[in-house]
Amino acid sequence: QWIYLDGQYVTKEKATVSVFDHGFLYGDGIFEGIRIYNGNIFKCKEHLDRLYDSAKSIMLDIPLTYDEMREAMAETIRRNDMRNGYIRLIVSRGPGNLGLDPRRCPKASVIIIVEQLAIYPEAAYLNGLRAVSVSQRRNIPDALNPKIKSLNYLNNILVKIQSNLAEADEAVMLNAQGYVTEGSGDNIFVIKKGVVYTPPCYLGALEGITRLAIIELCEKLGIPLKEEPFTLHDLYIADEVFFTGTAAEVIACREIDGRIIGEGHAGPVTLKLLEEFRRIVDQDGYK
Ligand code: PLP
Repeated sequence: QWIYLDGQYVTKEKATVSVFDHGFLYGDGIFEGIRIYNGNIFKCKEHLDRLYDSAKSIMLDIPLTYDEMREAMAETIRRNDMRNGYIRLIVSRGPGNLGLDPRRCPKASVIIIVEQLAIYPEAAYLNGLRAVSVSQRRNIPDALNPKIKSLNYLNNILVKIQSNLAEADEAVMLNAQGYVTEGSGDNIFVIKKGVVYTPPCYLGALEGITRLAIIELCEKLGIPLKEEPFTLHDLYIADEVFFTGTAAEVIACREIDGRIIGEGHAGPVTLKLLEEFRRIVDQDGYK
């Protein structure tokens, strides 16, 4: 496995960062998770847009241009001979001293890891996941803006720990007002009476690229979709619930907090969207 590390391609064993890297010390940095389908980087521009926007927002200078970043990803894919897999792109503030001040970090570090994906077994896409709501609240725009895909994932990890303790597969995160925001690392959708709903991202969700692809897909398929706030109650009484994310794609949820959702397995709209989504990603050249 070859890993891109600040302009070099190194083996996994040699891919190490400094203990003074502020990404390590403070979670000061940003990242992207991206899929490779049939040798293509799926939604490359959208991921790079989100990365560079996140960087600008936290005043992080990425030492590569867009084209250089795209080329570095392509070369990492080539060196790993990967047709289908996952790219983790990380830009950390880089090595500094023990103080918080990012001015002590002269150069950001760029890391690109390409790997096979360990996703849910295919049966999970039919059976659906068990989810629980968690007490950990999603951070809101006046704290750390959820639009920034930062290396600060402690919030999400605490959510994961809570769902692990409940022996659930996924979590449902609310914001401080009790509105549903997203899963631990995936966006959430609800279907009721043929209408698809997803929370507006200003409630406290990442602007997921898969989420946007599903919104576009609903439009294309003539499935009505609304971005509207909703609560746990609306989840419990939904006909279908599903999560979306780069790794998970589109995955149904069969149970939330002990309430069976719909028929207790993936419903027809979810399966249709999954099928169409997979058709899109399989098409060569879809970026
Ligand atoms: N929400 C969070 C907190 C995430 O980390 C992710 C993963 O990137 C998502 C949602 C889904 O976003 P995307 O579809 O861009 O992978």
